[in-house]
Amino acid sequence: MAYPTSYYAATRNPAPERPPLQGDATCDVCVIGGGFAGVSAALHLAESGKKVILLEAEEIGFGASGRNGGQVVNGFSRGYDAFLKSCGKDTAEAILAMSFEGGDIIRQRIGKYNISCDYREGTFFAAFNKKQIAHLEREKELWERAGNTAIEMIGPEKVSAIVDTKLYIGGMLDRRGGHLHPLNLVLGEAAALETLGGKIFEQSRVIRIDKTNKPKVYTDKGSVAADFVVVCGNAYLTGILPEITGRIMPVSSQIVTTEPLGEELARKMIPGDNCVEDCNFMLDYYRITADHRLLFGGGVLYSGYEPADVIRRLQPHIDRTFPHLRDKKIDFAWNGQIAITLTRFPHLGRLSDTIYFIQGDSGHGVTACHLQGKLVAEAINHQAARFDVFANIKNYPFPGGRVFRVPLTALGAWYYELREVIGI
Ligand SMILES: Cc1cc2nc3c(=O)[nH]c(=O)nc-3n(C[C@H](O)[C@H](O)[C@H](O)COP(=O)(O)OP(=O)(O)OC[C@H]3O[C@@H](n4cnc5c(N)ncnc54)[C@H](O)[C@@H]3O)c2cc1C
Repeated sequence: MAYPTSYYAATRNPAPERPPLQGDATCDVCVIGGGFAGVSAALHLAESGKKVILLEAEEIGFGASGRNGGQVVNGFSRGYDAFLKSCGKDTAEAILAMSFEGGDIIRQRIGKYNISCDYREGTFFAAFNKKQIAHLEREKELWERAGNTAIEMIGPEKVSAIVDTKLYIGGMLDRRGGHLHPLNLVLGEAAALETLGGKIFEQSRVIRIDKTNKPKVYTDKGSVAADFVVVCGNAYLTGILPEITGRIMPVSSQIVTTEPLGEELARKMIPGDNCVEDCNFMLDYYRITADHRLLFGGGVLYSGYEPADVIRRLQPHIDRTFPHLRDKKIDFAWNGQIAITLTRFPHLGRLSDTIYFIQGDSGHGVTACHLQGKLVAEAINHQAARFDVFANIKNYPFPGGRVFRVPLTALGAWYYELREVIGI
Protein backbone atom coordinates (compact mmCIF):
# COMPACT_ATOMS: atom_id res chain seq x y z
CA MET A 1 0.00 0.00 0.00
CA ALA A 2 1.34 3.45 -0.85
CA TYR A 3 1.40 6.40 1.55
CA PRO A 4 -1.98 8.06 2.05
CA THR A 5 -2.38 11.35 0.24
CA SER A 6 -0.99 13.97 2.61
CA TYR A 7 1.13 17.10 2.67
CA TYR A 8 4.00 14.96 3.92
CA ALA A 9 3.74 12.35 1.18
CA ALA A 10 3.57 15.13 -1.43
CA THR A 11 6.72 16.84 -0.10
CA ARG A 12 8.81 13.83 0.95
CA ASN A 13 12.47 13.52 0.15
CA PRO A 14 13.47 10.82 -2.35
CA ALA A 15 13.99 7.34 -0.87
CA PRO A 16 15.34 4.15 -2.48
CA GLU A 17 13.13 1.22 -3.54
CA ARG A 18 13.26 -1.33 -0.76
CA PRO A 19 12.12 -4.71 -1.99
CA PRO A 20 10.26 -7.23 0.20
CA LEU A 21 12.08 -9.89 2.19
CA GLN A 22 12.60 -13.04 0.08
CA GLY A 23 13.93 -16.25 1.60
CA ASP A 24 15.59 -16.85 4.95
CA ALA A 25 17.85 -14.36 6.69
CA THR A 26 19.64 -14.09 10.04
CA CYS A 27 20.70 -11.14 12.16
CA ASP A 28 21.33 -10.03 15.73
CA VAL A 29 18.09 -8.05 16.04
CA CYS A 30 14.96 -8.09 13.90
CA VAL A 31 12.81 -4.96 14.28
CA ILE A 32 9.14 -5.05 13.22
CA GLY A 33 7.67 -1.71 12.12
CA GLY A 34 9.28 1.23 10.35
CA GLY A 35 7.93 4.14 12.40
CA PHE A 36 9.86 6.30 14.87
CA ALA A 37 10.01 3.56 17.51
CA GLY A 38 11.25 0.84 15.16
CA VAL A 39 13.68 3.01 13.22
CA SER A 40 14.99 4.65 16.39
CA ALA A 41 15.61 1.25 18.01
CA ALA A 42 17.20 -0.11 14.84
CA LEU A 43 19.48 2.90 14.43
CA HIS A 44 20.62 2.87 18.07
CA LEU A 45 21.32 -0.87 17.77
CA ALA A 46 23.22 -0.46 14.50
CA GLU A 47 25.24 2.37 16.05
CA SER A 48 26.21 -0.04 18.81
CA GLY A 49 27.47 -2.57 16.25
CA LYS A 50 24.46 -4.91 15.99
CA LYS A 51 23.45 -6.50 12.70
CA VAL A 52 19.85 -5.33 12.26
CA ILE A 53 17.02 -6.25 9.88
CA LEU A 54 13.91 -4.05 9.88
CA LEU A 55 10.65 -5.38 8.41
CA GLU A 56 7.94 -2.86 7.47
CA ALA A 57 4.51 -4.01 6.29
CA GLU A 58 4.12 -1.03 3.92
CA GLU A 59 6.74 1.70 3.54
CA ILE A 60 8.96 3.49 6.05
CA GLY A 61 6.83 6.05 7.90
CA PHE A 62 3.55 4.63 6.60
CA GLY A 63 1.96 4.67 10.10
CA ALA A 64 1.54 7.53 12.55
CA SER A 65 5.20 8.56 12.22
CA GLY A 66 4.77 9.73 8.64
CA ARG A 67 1.42 11.45 9.20
CA ASN A 68 1.54 13.27 12.53
CA GLY A 69 1.51 16.92 13.55
CA GLY A 70 5.31 17.05 13.57
CA GLN A 71 5.26 18.58 17.05
CA VAL A 72 8.47 17.79 18.92
CA VAL A 73 6.92 18.01 22.37
CA ASN A 74 8.97 17.18 25.44
CA GLY A 75 7.78 14.83 28.16
CA PHE A 76 5.20 12.07 27.81
CA SER A 77 1.45 11.72 27.41
CA ARG A 78 1.10 11.98 31.21
CA GLY A 79 3.03 14.31 33.51
CA TYR A 80 5.11 13.76 36.63
CA ASP A 81 2.18 13.92 39.06
CA ALA A 82 0.30 11.11 37.28
CA PHE A 83 3.41 8.88 37.36
CA LEU A 84 3.94 9.80 41.02
CA LYS A 85 0.38 8.87 41.98
CA SER A 86 0.32 5.56 40.11
CA CYS A 87 3.92 4.38 40.16
CA GLY A 88 5.65 6.07 43.11
CA LYS A 89 8.43 8.63 43.52
CA ASP A 90 11.37 6.62 42.14
CA THR A 91 9.58 5.91 38.84
CA ALA A 92 8.25 9.48 38.53
CA GLU A 93 11.72 10.94 39.16
CA ALA A 94 13.41 8.54 36.72
CA ILE A 95 10.87 9.37 34.00
CA LEU A 96 11.11 13.12 34.65
CA ALA A 97 14.88 12.86 34.18
CA MET A 98 14.30 11.38 30.69
CA SER A 99 11.78 14.04 29.62
CA PHE A 100 14.05 15.87 27.19
CA GLU A 101 16.17 13.06 25.82
CA GLY A 102 13.85 12.14 22.93
CA GLY A 103 13.98 15.69 21.53
CA ASP A 104 17.75 15.81 22.02
CA ILE A 105 18.14 12.52 20.09
CA ILE A 106 16.13 13.99 17.21
CA ARG A 107 18.27 17.14 17.04
CA GLN A 108 21.49 15.15 17.31
CA ARG A 109 20.44 12.85 14.47
CA ILE A 110 19.37 15.72 12.24
CA GLY A 111 22.88 17.14 12.70
CA LYS A 112 24.87 13.90 12.62
CA TYR A 113 23.14 12.41 9.56
CA ASN A 114 22.38 15.70 7.84
CA ILE A 115 18.62 15.03 7.68
CA SER A 116 16.62 17.66 5.84
CA CYS A 117 13.26 17.85 7.70
CA ASP A 118 12.54 21.57 8.30
CA TYR A 119 13.25 21.57 12.05
CA ARG A 120 12.09 24.75 13.82
CA GLU A 121 12.47 25.62 17.50
CA GLY A 122 9.70 26.15 20.08
CA THR A 123 6.50 24.56 21.41
CA PHE A 124 3.73 26.78 22.83
CA PHE A 125 1.25 25.12 25.20
CA ALA A 126 -1.83 27.35 24.98
CA ALA A 127 -4.21 27.74 27.93
CA PHE A 128 -7.91 28.64 27.78
CA ASN A 129 -8.39 29.11 31.52
CA LYS A 130 -6.69 29.59 34.88
CA LYS A 131 -6.82 25.89 35.73
CA GLN A 132 -4.72 25.14 32.65
CA ILE A 133 -2.31 27.97 33.52
CA ALA A 134 -1.85 26.47 37.01
CA HIS A 135 -1.13 23.09 35.41
CA LEU A 136 1.48 24.66 33.11
CA GLU A 137 3.11 26.53 36.02
CA ARG A 138 3.52 23.19 37.80
CA GLU A 139 4.93 21.65 34.62
CA LYS A 140 7.42 24.51 34.28
CA GLU A 141 8.60 24.03 37.86
CA LEU A 142 9.12 20.28 37.26
CA TRP A 143 10.78 20.64 33.86
CA GLU A 144 13.14 23.30 35.22
CA ARG A 145 14.02 20.97 38.08
CA ALA A 146 14.87 18.37 35.42
CA GLY A 147 17.26 20.78 33.71
CA ASN A 148 15.19 22.52 31.03
CA THR A 149 15.93 26.23 31.40
CA ALA A 150 14.43 27.23 28.05
CA ILE A 151 10.87 27.66 29.34
CA GLU A 152 8.88 30.87 29.71
CA MET A 153 5.34 31.48 30.99
CA ILE A 154 3.46 33.77 28.61
CA GLY A 155 0.89 36.13 30.15
CA PRO A 156 -2.23 37.50 28.38
CA GLU A 157 -0.42 40.63 27.22
CA LYS A 158 2.21 38.60 25.35
CA VAL A 159 0.08 35.87 23.77
CA SER A 160 -0.39 37.70 20.48
CA ALA A 161 3.40 37.85 20.07
CA ILE A 162 3.32 34.03 20.07
CA VAL A 163 0.08 33.28 18.21
CA ASP A 164 -2.35 35.73 16.67
CA THR A 165 -5.67 34.46 18.06
CA LYS A 166 -8.05 35.64 20.75
CA LEU A 167 -8.64 32.15 22.14
CA TYR A 168 -6.03 31.87 24.86
CA ILE A 169 -5.35 33.64 28.13
CA GLY A 170 -1.69 32.61 28.22
CA GLY A 171 0.53 29.58 28.09
CA MET A 172 4.01 28.15 28.30
CA LEU A 173 6.69 28.44 25.64
CA ASP A 174 9.31 25.66 25.59
CA ARG A 175 12.22 26.58 23.34
CA ARG A 176 13.68 23.10 23.79
CA GLY A 177 10.70 21.72 21.85
CA GLY A 178 10.03 22.35 18.17
CA HIS A 179 8.43 21.03 15.00
CA LEU A 180 9.44 19.31 11.78
CA HIS A 181 8.42 17.27 8.74
CA PRO A 182 8.03 13.87 10.41
CA LEU A 183 8.05 11.71 7.28
CA ASN A 184 11.32 13.26 6.14
CA LEU A 185 12.80 12.71 9.60
CA VAL A 186 11.99 8.99 9.65
CA LEU A 187 13.10 8.57 6.02
CA GLY A 188 16.40 10.26 6.91
CA GLU A 189 16.87 8.01 9.92
CA ALA A 190 16.12 4.93 7.80
CA ALA A 191 18.75 6.03 5.29
CA ALA A 192 21.21 6.50 8.19
CA LEU A 193 20.47 2.96 9.34
CA GLU A 194 21.36 1.63 5.89
CA THR A 195 24.69 3.51 5.87
CA LEU A 196 25.54 1.54 9.03
CA GLY A 197 24.77 -1.80 7.34
CA GLY A 198 21.18 -2.18 8.60
CA LYS A 199 18.82 -3.86 6.12
CA ILE A 200 15.27 -2.62 5.53
CA PHE A 201 12.60 -4.66 3.75
CA GLU A 202 9.36 -2.89 2.86
CA GLN A 203 6.05 -4.55 1.86
CA SER A 204 7.11 -7.21 4.37
CA ARG A 205 4.27 -7.74 6.83
CA VAL A 206 5.16 -10.05 9.69
CA ILE A 207 2.48 -12.71 9.97
CA ARG A 208 3.91 -14.91 12.70
CA ILE A 209 6.60 -14.90 15.39
CA ASP A 210 8.03 -18.09 16.86
CA LYS A 211 8.55 -17.08 20.46
CA THR A 212 11.36 -19.54 21.15
CA ASN A 213 14.67 -18.70 22.82
CA LYS A 214 16.06 -17.99 19.37
CA PRO A 215 13.00 -16.28 17.88
CA LYS A 216 12.02 -16.47 14.24
CA VAL A 217 9.85 -14.01 12.39
CA TYR A 218 7.85 -14.89 9.25
CA THR A 219 6.48 -12.88 6.35
CA ASP A 220 4.61 -14.53 3.48
CA LYS A 221 7.80 -14.72 1.40
CA GLY A 222 10.57 -15.23 3.94
CA SER A 223 11.80 -15.48 7.50
CA VAL A 224 14.33 -13.87 9.82
CA ALA A 225 16.04 -15.78 12.64
CA ALA A 226 17.43 -13.38 15.25
CA ASP A 227 18.84 -13.27 18.75
CA PHE A 228 16.28 -10.57 19.60
CA VAL A 229 13.04 -9.24 18.14
CA VAL A 230 11.67 -5.74 18.79
CA VAL A 231 7.98 -5.26 17.96
CA CYS A 232 7.01 -1.66 17.06
CA GLY A 233 3.77 -1.98 15.07
CA ASN A 234 1.79 0.19 17.50
CA ALA A 235 -1.79 0.97 16.36
CA TYR A 236 -1.07 -0.62 12.97
CA LEU A 237 -0.11 -4.01 14.44
CA THR A 238 -3.07 -6.23 13.68
CA GLY A 239 -3.57 -9.96 13.63
CA ILE A 240 -0.50 -10.99 15.64
CA LEU A 241 0.34 -10.76 19.35
CA PRO A 242 -3.15 -10.27 20.87
CA GLU A 243 -1.46 -10.27 24.29
CA ILE A 244 -0.16 -6.75 23.58
CA THR A 245 -2.67 -5.41 21.06
CA GLY A 246 -5.45 -5.89 23.66
CA ARG A 247 -3.66 -3.31 25.83
CA ILE A 248 -3.99 -0.50 23.31
CA MET A 249 -6.88 1.02 21.42
CA PRO A 250 -6.55 2.79 18.07
CA VAL A 251 -7.95 6.31 17.90
CA SER A 252 -7.78 8.44 14.79
CA SER A 253 -6.56 12.03 14.65
CA GLN A 254 -7.24 14.29 11.66
CA ILE A 255 -4.99 16.83 9.93
CA VAL A 256 -5.42 19.39 7.17
CA THR A 257 -3.06 21.82 5.48
CA THR A 258 -4.15 25.01 3.79
CA GLU A 259 -2.87 26.34 0.53
CA PRO A 260 0.41 28.33 0.95
CA LEU A 261 -0.45 31.54 2.84
CA GLY A 262 2.64 33.53 1.98
CA GLU A 263 5.42 34.38 4.40
CA GLU A 264 3.91 37.66 5.60
CA LEU A 265 0.58 36.21 6.74
CA ALA A 266 2.23 33.09 8.17
CA ARG A 267 4.64 35.20 10.26
CA LYS A 268 1.78 37.36 11.48
CA MET A 269 -0.12 34.27 12.68
CA ILE A 270 2.78 32.66 14.54
CA PRO A 271 5.57 35.28 14.72
CA GLY A 272 8.16 33.02 16.39
CA ASP A 273 7.37 30.07 14.09
CA ASN A 274 6.90 27.73 17.06
CA CYS A 275 4.22 25.05 17.04
CA VAL A 276 1.09 25.36 19.18
CA GLU A 277 -0.92 22.78 21.07
CA ASP A 278 -3.78 23.67 23.37
CA CYS A 279 -4.27 22.22 26.86
CA ASN A 280 -7.69 20.63 26.29
CA PHE A 281 -8.22 16.89 26.69
CA MET A 282 -9.38 16.73 23.03
CA LEU A 283 -6.74 19.13 21.82
CA ASP A 284 -6.06 21.14 18.66
CA TYR A 285 -2.45 21.34 17.46
CA TYR A 286 -1.02 23.40 14.64
CA ARG A 287 2.03 24.99 13.08
CA ILE A 288 3.28 26.67 9.93
CA THR A 289 5.05 24.45 7.39
CA ALA A 290 8.29 25.38 5.64
CA ASP A 291 6.28 26.57 2.60
CA HIS A 292 4.01 28.72 4.82
CA ARG A 293 0.84 26.65 5.02
CA LEU A 294 -1.15 26.21 8.19
CA LEU A 295 -0.98 22.53 9.22
CA PHE A 296 -3.83 21.98 11.68
CA GLY A 297 -4.72 18.79 13.58
CA GLY A 298 -7.27 17.55 16.06
CA GLY A 299 -10.73 15.98 15.91
CA VAL A 300 -9.73 12.74 17.67
CA LEU A 301 -12.17 9.87 17.16
CA TYR A 302 -12.28 6.83 19.39
CA SER A 303 -12.26 3.40 17.74
CA GLY A 304 -9.86 4.58 15.06
CA TYR A 305 -12.87 5.45 12.88
CA GLU A 306 -11.71 7.60 9.95
CA PRO A 307 -14.28 10.24 8.96
CA ALA A 308 -15.11 10.54 5.27
CA ASP A 309 -14.91 14.33 5.48
CA VAL A 310 -11.86 15.39 7.49
CA ILE A 311 -12.13 19.02 6.38
CA ARG A 312 -15.69 19.30 7.68
CA ARG A 313 -14.54 17.95 11.03
CA LEU A 314 -11.63 20.38 11.43
CA GLN A 315 -12.88 23.52 9.67
CA PRO A 316 -14.87 24.83 12.70
CA HIS A 317 -11.71 24.50 14.84
CA ILE A 318 -9.66 26.49 12.30
CA ASP A 319 -12.41 29.10 11.96
CA ARG A 320 -12.57 29.77 15.69
CA THR A 321 -8.74 29.96 15.94
CA PHE A 322 -8.03 32.02 12.82
CA PRO A 323 -11.34 33.50 11.55
CA HIS A 324 -9.51 35.43 8.81
CA LEU A 325 -8.51 32.15 7.11
CA ARG A 326 -12.12 31.25 6.27
CA ASP A 327 -11.66 31.73 2.51
CA LYS A 328 -8.35 29.82 2.29
CA LYS A 329 -8.35 26.57 0.39
CA ILE A 330 -7.50 23.30 2.08
CA ASP A 331 -5.00 21.45 -0.12
CA PHE A 332 -4.53 18.24 1.90
CA ALA A 333 -6.62 16.33 4.46
CA TRP A 334 -5.72 12.98 6.02
CA ASN A 335 -5.70 11.05 9.24
CA GLY A 336 -3.73 8.43 11.13
CA GLN A 337 -4.02 5.99 13.98
CA ILE A 338 -2.73 6.68 17.48
CA ALA A 339 -2.40 3.83 20.00
CA ILE A 340 -3.70 4.83 23.42
CA THR A 341 -3.45 2.81 26.61
CA LEU A 342 -6.07 2.81 29.33
CA THR A 343 -3.83 4.81 31.68
CA ARG A 344 -2.25 6.86 28.84
CA PHE A 345 1.15 5.70 30.14
CA PRO A 346 3.39 4.31 27.37
CA HIS A 347 3.51 0.51 27.18
CA LEU A 348 6.98 -1.03 26.85
CA GLY A 349 8.01 -4.50 27.84
CA ARG A 350 9.17 -8.00 27.00
CA LEU A 351 7.18 -10.97 25.78
CA SER A 352 10.15 -13.19 26.66
CA ASP A 353 13.86 -12.66 27.34
CA THR A 354 14.40 -12.14 23.61
CA ILE A 355 11.24 -10.36 22.42
CA TYR A 356 10.71 -6.69 23.26
CA PHE A 357 7.93 -4.30 22.35
CA ILE A 358 7.16 -0.55 22.34
CA GLN A 359 3.62 0.77 21.93
CA GLY A 360 0.90 3.02 23.34
CA ASP A 361 2.47 6.47 23.32
CA SER A 362 -1.08 7.78 23.49
CA GLY A 363 -0.66 10.62 21.02
CA HIS A 364 2.68 11.86 22.28
CA GLY A 365 5.18 9.77 20.40
CA VAL A 366 7.54 11.91 18.34
CA THR A 367 10.05 12.42 21.16
CA ALA A 368 8.94 9.45 23.29
CA CYS A 369 9.51 6.87 20.54
CA HIS A 370 13.01 8.21 19.93
CA LEU A 371 13.84 7.78 23.60
CA GLN A 372 12.16 4.38 23.86
CA GLY A 373 14.03 3.05 20.84
CA LYS A 374 17.22 3.99 22.67
CA LEU A 375 16.03 2.27 25.87
CA VAL A 376 15.32 -0.99 24.02
CA ALA A 377 18.79 -0.82 22.49
CA GLU A 378 20.29 -0.27 25.95
CA ALA A 379 18.36 -3.28 27.32
CA ILE A 380 19.52 -5.54 24.49
CA ASN A 381 23.04 -4.31 25.19
CA HIS A 382 22.69 -5.45 28.84
CA GLN A 383 21.82 -2.03 30.35
CA ALA A 384 18.15 -2.58 31.15
CA ALA A 385 17.68 -0.24 34.14
CA ARG A 386 16.07 2.64 32.23
CA PHE A 387 13.99 0.34 30.01
CA ASP A 388 12.72 -1.38 33.14
CA VAL A 389 11.51 1.91 34.62
CA PHE A 390 8.90 1.91 31.84
CA ALA A 391 8.48 -1.87 31.61
CA ASN A 392 7.54 -2.04 35.31
CA ILE A 393 4.62 0.39 34.93
CA LYS A 394 1.34 -1.50 35.33
CA ASN A 395 -0.72 -1.71 32.20
CA TYR A 396 -4.29 -2.91 31.89
CA PRO A 397 -6.50 -4.34 29.16
CA PHE A 398 -9.36 -2.11 28.07
CA PRO A 399 -12.58 -3.00 29.90
CA GLY A 400 -15.34 -4.30 27.69
CA GLY A 401 -13.21 -6.48 25.40
CA ARG A 402 -13.16 -5.87 21.66
CA VAL A 403 -16.88 -5.01 21.48
CA PHE A 404 -17.36 -2.60 24.40
CA ARG A 405 -13.90 -1.05 24.79
CA VAL A 406 -14.71 1.63 22.22
CA PRO A 407 -18.03 2.91 23.67
CA LEU A 408 -16.70 2.69 27.22
CA THR A 409 -13.53 4.64 26.40
CA ALA A 410 -15.46 7.19 24.33
CA LEU A 411 -17.78 7.67 27.30
CA GLY A 412 -14.77 8.24 29.57
CA ALA A 413 -13.31 10.79 27.13
CA TRP A 414 -16.67 12.53 26.82
CA TYR A 415 -16.77 12.85 30.62
CA TYR A 416 -13.38 14.60 30.68
CA GLU A 417 -14.36 16.84 27.77
CA LEU A 418 -17.59 17.79 29.55
CA ARG A 419 -15.67 18.67 32.71
CA GLU A 420 -13.56 21.05 30.63
CA VAL A 421 -16.58 22.67 29.01
CA ILE A 422 -18.30 23.33 32.33
CA GLY A 423 -15.01 24.25 33.99
CA ILE A 424 -14.71 21.70 36.83
C1 LIG B 1 -2.64 12.33 13.01
C2 LIG B 1 -1.62 12.16 14.11
C3 LIG B 1 -1.01 13.29 14.66
C4 LIG B 1 -0.06 13.14 15.68
N1 LIG B 1 0.64 14.24 16.09
C5 LIG B 1 1.66 14.08 16.97
C6 LIG B 1 2.50 15.17 17.28
O1 LIG B 1 2.38 16.25 16.72
N2 LIG B 1 3.47 15.00 18.23
C7 LIG B 1 3.65 13.79 18.84
O2 LIG B 1 4.53 13.67 19.72
N3 LIG B 1 2.92 12.71 18.49
C8 LIG B 1 1.96 12.82 17.56
N4 LIG B 1 1.24 11.73 17.16
C9 LIG B 1 1.61 10.42 17.72
C10 LIG B 1 2.89 9.88 17.05
O3 LIG B 1 2.83 10.09 15.66
C11 LIG B 1 3.01 8.39 17.36
O4 LIG B 1 3.01 8.21 18.78
C12 LIG B 1 4.29 7.79 16.81
O5 LIG B 1 4.53 8.17 15.49
C13 LIG B 1 4.21 6.27 16.92
O6 LIG B 1 5.34 5.72 16.29
P1 LIG B 1 5.48 4.16 16.19
O7 LIG B 1 6.76 3.88 15.53
O8 LIG B 1 5.26 3.56 17.55
O9 LIG B 1 4.24 3.67 15.31
P2 LIG B 1 3.87 3.96 13.79
O10 LIG B 1 4.52 5.18 13.28
O11 LIG B 1 2.41 3.85 13.67
O12 LIG B 1 4.59 2.77 13.02
C14 LIG B 1 4.18 1.44 13.10
C15 LIG B 1 4.64 0.77 11.82
O13 LIG B 1 4.55 -0.64 11.97
C16 LIG B 1 4.16 -1.19 10.74
N5 LIG B 1 3.57 -2.52 11.02
C17 LIG B 1 2.43 -2.80 11.69
N6 LIG B 1 2.23 -4.13 11.72
C18 LIG B 1 3.28 -4.70 11.10
C19 LIG B 1 3.64 -6.05 10.80
N7 LIG B 1 2.85 -7.08 11.19
N8 LIG B 1 4.79 -6.29 10.13
C20 LIG B 1 5.59 -5.26 9.74
N9 LIG B 1 5.29 -3.97 9.98
C21 LIG B 1 4.15 -3.68 10.65
C22 LIG B 1 3.15 -0.19 10.19
O14 LIG B 1 2.96 -0.31 8.80
C23 LIG B 1 3.77 1.13 10.62
O15 LIG B 1 4.57 1.70 9.61
C24 LIG B 1 0.27 11.84 16.17
C25 LIG B 1 -0.35 10.72 15.62
C26 LIG B 1 -1.29 10.86 14.59
C27 LIG B 1 -1.91 9.65 14.00
